[in-house]
Amino acid sequence: MEQKEAERLDCFFHSLQFAKSPLLLLDYDGTLADFRIDRFTARPWSGVRGLLNAIQRDNRTRLMVITGRPAGEINSLLQLDAPVEVWGLHGAERLHADGRRELEPAPPDALAKLDELREKLRHDALGGLFEDKPNAVVMHWRGHSPRQAKLIEERTRALFEPAAQVSGLSLLPFESGIELRVGRDKGGAIEAIVEQAPPGTPVTYLGDDLTDESAFSAVNRMHNPHVSVLMRRFRRPTAAEVWLQPPEGLRCFLKEWINAVSGVKPARGRFAWIETFAKTDSSVVADEPPYAREITTNPIDVG
Ligand SMILES: [Mg+2]
Repeated sequence: MEQKEAERLDCFFHSLQFAKSPLLLLDYDGTLADFRIDRFTARPWSGVRGLLNAIQRDNRTRLMVITGRPAGEINSLLQLDAPVEVWGLHGAERLHADGRRELEPAPPDALAKLDELREKLRHDALGGLFEDKPNAVVMHWRGHSPRQAKLIEERTRALFEPAAQVSGLSLLPFESGIELRVGRDKGGAIEAIVEQAPPGTPVTYLGDDLTDESAFSAVNRMHNPHVSVLMRRFRRPTAAEVWLQPPEGLRCFLKEWINAVSGVKPARGRFAWIETFAKTDSSVVADEPPYAREITTNPIDVG
């Protein structure tokens, strides 16, 4: 970790000590949990559930998940003591902690085009994994060989790119897939959340994927105390101010959050983060090979 990244973190955690209701905004897949081919088995990394439960109990932090998944999938995977508010479908859907659900309205032409593509992809998924969302059609190629993945991507782009000309629709590439969608992105979700919060509320967002870049940029534009965090095993070009590696970097971040908010002990000394992450940093500056992101077997919270 570079000194300026450690400074950003220290500065942010200091802002939490007297904040009434700081915003802890988190992506799910790749950030709180490892990737799985079967996404319904993606559980939080070991120790993460306990830390999030402790944060929920502080009665100050507003903990929310912002995910590309349908919002309804998250709480059953997280299994915290109390459900969290989830912004799903990359921000187009809001599921309140009390179960109320809002879906952003979409233009009829965009919805008609999505219906047309759904019909096609149900019969022929172009060699990939087709996912149908209320506001989008998605093609995944995670787990395929680089050659197969490239082929699936080419076929999908040939179908999605002309469709993206329809008003309201846009392409959202992510690692190992692409989505054709309508509605707010993660950056838009963060703007909506912060707009409803008291002025000066500290805000952070942790995410791993290309789809999180709009969220990092939105956080960076805030006048509130803020920090944007890329949570990823390998560094890549990003708008995020700080890079941490999961799962250890995530656990450190959450423990630091608990300390800073509770006031049980003061936030760590300046630049202590550098010490924590110095060893791991030097070994992993290279990027991952495209398409071939591994499915890892880090310990998870079972249950
Ligand atoms: Mg993710």
